[in-house]
Amino acid sequence: MKYLSTRNKNLSASSSMCILEGLSKEGGLFFFDSIPSLDLNECLKMNYLELAIEVLKKFLTDFSEEEISACVHNAYDDSFDTEEITPIVKVKEDWILELFHGPTSAFKDVALQILPHLLTTSLKIQKSDQKILILTATSGDTGKAALEGFKDVENVKIMVFYPKDGVSEIQKKQMVTTKGNNCTVLGVDGNFDDCQKAVKQCFTDEDLINILSDHNTQFSSANSINVGRLLPQIVYYVKSYLDLVRRHEIEMNEKINVSVPTGNFGNILAGYIAKQMGVPIEKFICASNENNVLTEFIQTGIYNANRTFVKTNSPSMDIVVSSNLERLLYWLSQDDALTAQMMTSLKEKGQYEISSFMKEKLQKEFYASCVTQKETEEMIQKVYEEDHYLMDPHTAVAYKTLLDFKKENINSYKTIVCATASPYKFMDTVMKSIDSTSEDEFEMMERCEKLTNVKIPKNLKNLKNETVRHHKNISIDEIKEEVIRVVSHD
Ligand SMILES: *Cc1c(COP(=O)(O)O)cnc(C)c1O
Repeated sequence: MKYLSTRNKNLSASSSMCILEGLSKEGGLFFFDSIPSLDLNECLKMNYLELAIEVLKKFLTDFSEEEISACVHNAYDDSFDTEEITPIVKVKEDWILELFHGPTSAFKDVALQILPHLLTTSLKIQKSDQKILILTATSGDTGKAALEGFKDVENVKIMVFYPKDGVSEIQKKQMVTTKGNNCTVLGVDGNFDDCQKAVKQCFTDEDLINILSDHNTQFSSANSINVGRLLPQIVYYVKSYLDLVRRHEIEMNEKINVSVPTGNFGNILAGYIAKQMGVPIEKFICASNENNVLTEFIQTGIYNANRTFVKTNSPSMDIVVSSNLERLLYWLSQDDALTAQMMTSLKEKGQYEISSFMKEKLQKEFYASCVTQKETEEMIQKVYEEDHYLMDPHTAVAYKTLLDFKKENINSYKTIVCATASPYKFMDTVMKSIDSTSEDEFEMMERCEKLTNVKIPKNLKNLKNETVRHHKNISIDEIKEEVIRVVSHD
């Protein structure tokens, strides 16, 4: 299997090289030259880990099966609170795919628990003796999931930068209590965009790259543009389809839809890849919040990033530039020059438009709609009252979008809705929807558990008494100095 840059097909790399490098040199993303197929009947008898090995070995073609197996076991043997890893739960006639049973209660754990192992194995395959420094700017969920994945991983250091006043109390507490000798967590005086911009600049700062090189270290990214984050997410689409077959909810080869709360387009793209591998998914329901750039794009074929960023109650989907969409555009057009042209237009004019041929192809597979913050709260309340199922705001956005889809009578297949976070991560919105709020998020957790009988995840329950280990706050201008301090310290 070869990986090609979406902006220049002549730049190709092996799987281990892609995982180490993250982005292609000219700024393109790596994508496959062809997508392998899976024998679903063969997979029917596999558990999550066996299936993960089966899927990954088709893509990581310069890894040995033993190496892949070791990565999978290290990632999933005991870090999730259920052996199923990603269980499904029936709500009315559809199914919720719970992706939040990992160590930080957000779906990013599925990929970030295995990425560090894929990365260190890639170093071995490339016979590199380099060390890795991961820099991550976070608006909340990614930071903690990356810290939990990378803590105490040999030859890797990780630094997380979060906007000091821009994350929830729980998210902050999750990050600043992280153990692990290779972790640095810093509050930054600025908003998420400031953090992200400053961190991105570090990756191309010649001076920093030289200092790292003197310490035999290279930068890498835990961001979802890395194929090492995309591949592990294919597995749960296959797994949940087979679960429906195993429960006699559907016959093998019967079609389903999936509804995905979408931000950077990584999760939904993994579902699309699962379809190309043979999972019979008819429609991808792309759910957005008030940051509805993707809804407009899928409906009109015009991607317009010239819009105001809205801070919503489903913050992990607050986004204006959805990076993984580039991979879909490349795959649908099979045209690297065209993809490069669209990305240049996005950079220079903040917008691009696809041809009507491409738009037709896109609309055949994807349905899109968006949900207001108020509708999100109403959905949480309605599903809780009618079905006794407690959703987090991101999941509620996907569920509401499914209801919009049903109203249009496009098809009547069963649908899997991705649940991307535990409701306990977003107590303020959840309690506002079903009861009442208070200042203290831990008090709300206790009250929510009593009211709903939904158990507080262990990691969040214990959080209150964890010791704060990372106290430092810095200004944007101090980020570089901190990076130098961390690489120089052995
Ligand atoms: C990151 C995230 C999303 C968005 O996923 P993408 O792969 O970026 O589309 C949705 N919900 C939650 C809770 C997330 O953390």
